[in-house]
Amino acid sequence: MQLTFLGAAGTVTGSRFLISTPSRRVLVDCGLFQGLKQLRLRNREPFPVAPAEIDAIILTHAHLDHTGYLPVLVRDGFQGPVYCTPTTHDFCGILLPDSGHLQEEEAAFANRHGFSKHRPALPLYTRADAERALRVLRPAAFHEEHQATDGVRFRYDYAGHIPGAALVTVEVGGVRIVFSGDLGRMDDPLLPAPAPLPAADYLLLESTYGDRRHPPGDPLEDLASVIGRTARRGGTVIIPAFAIGRTQLLLYYLHRLKAERRIPNIPIFLDSPMASEATRVFSRRPDDLKLDDAEVAAVCKAAEVVDSVEESKAIDRMTYPRVIVSASGMATGGRVLHHLAALAPDPRNTIMLSGFQAPGTRGAQLRDGARSLKIHGRYIQVNAEVVVSDGLSAHADYDEILGWLDAAEQAPRETFLVHGEQVAADALRLRIQDRLGWRCRVPEYRETVSLG
Ligand SMILES: [Zn+2]
Repeated sequence: MQLTFLGAAGTVTGSRFLISTPSRRVLVDCGLFQGLKQLRLRNREPFPVAPAEIDAIILTHAHLDHTGYLPVLVRDGFQGPVYCTPTTHDFCGILLPDSGHLQEEEAAFANRHGFSKHRPALPLYTRADAERALRVLRPAAFHEEHQATDGVRFRYDYAGHIPGAALVTVEVGGVRIVFSGDLGRMDDPLLPAPAPLPAADYLLLESTYGDRRHPPGDPLEDLASVIGRTARRGGTVIIPAFAIGRTQLLLYYLHRLKAERRIPNIPIFLDSPMASEATRVFSRRPDDLKLDDAEVAAVCKAAEVVDSVEESKAIDRMTYPRVIVSASGMATGGRVLHHLAALAPDPRNTIMLSGFQAPGTRGAQLRDGARSLKIHGRYIQVNAEVVVSDGLSAHADYDEILGWLDAAEQAPRETFLVHGEQVAADALRLRIQDRLGWRCRVPEYRETVSLG
């Protein structure tokens, strides 16, 4: 059996791993490359295997860097089933059509302004392609054995990263490969902790925060102090948030801070149609959560939902303090852009970054101290305070990962570090070798290894 790293090797995004036997091919994850342009261009390369020759796809969770390439493979001839957990199925129904819509908008924008070398610029895929891809999704429950195709079995266990996120154990000819997907925090207030590492011959382990430890502070306290000081100076807190996962965690914290009167009674807006829809999915799937029904209802009511674009723009003209939670989480698109364009120049305001910021994104520029940002073709001054809250991260840090590995009953024969930038992945490799003595390494993009 062979395993080929078709993405998320030496970088966080583009999760795609191909398992090949003499008669079968199964792809685990089918993600988009995001961030730097040289990575995004990989989305345009021909897929190394004819999509029609892939028998099945198994998804770990709904984020686009794990699912967003699916519409291309389905359009180009993939005909097999795509397995995912029931919650991932529902989230894909929101994320994939939106991604197709954004691709179409980008291509139209490039054509209007003559940006593209290709004339006309074509979208990577369309909304219609994404909707067709949804039809091949097959929900598969957690904690049960499933058959992906002849001779390939798999099982989903909680990964604790976002609702529905799974770590996957794939068994082929008696060899077990565990894919961690994105691994969540051990003490997330909404999600159960990641399941113990299943017995594995080989492990593909995420390393997004392989070189970092989350600060020990209390994210509730951090959020309260940011909102408090911003409101005192008459400013607004803008929180770019991932529609799925981070938004609901933020709403939970905001609900608690308001209920406990730890923040002033100012309006809180949720301004992202996708995040609002994701919050509805979240409320319909309580099985994946640690919260009781009353808490889920409170989370859904923590913010005023903004529907139309006119309402969204009107928020920027208000003159009193407020909190705006808006997507996208790395400020690469979505309504958060016009809030940033309108509010970043005012030093009374605060921009709070709430999760991983991929290199090349506006979020990463802000995190690194940029004092101007290009938005909609114009440079915007950044005079607002910028706060990075790593405590709100959806990824385990290296201490949590090492603790998770340390509790395993047996060491895998080999561990491959994926979903991390080079420096983070290599830092985690050293720590695992030093502390646990496990054999591990960072694979190369498009590298093939023999397993078994
Ligand atoms: Zn993720």
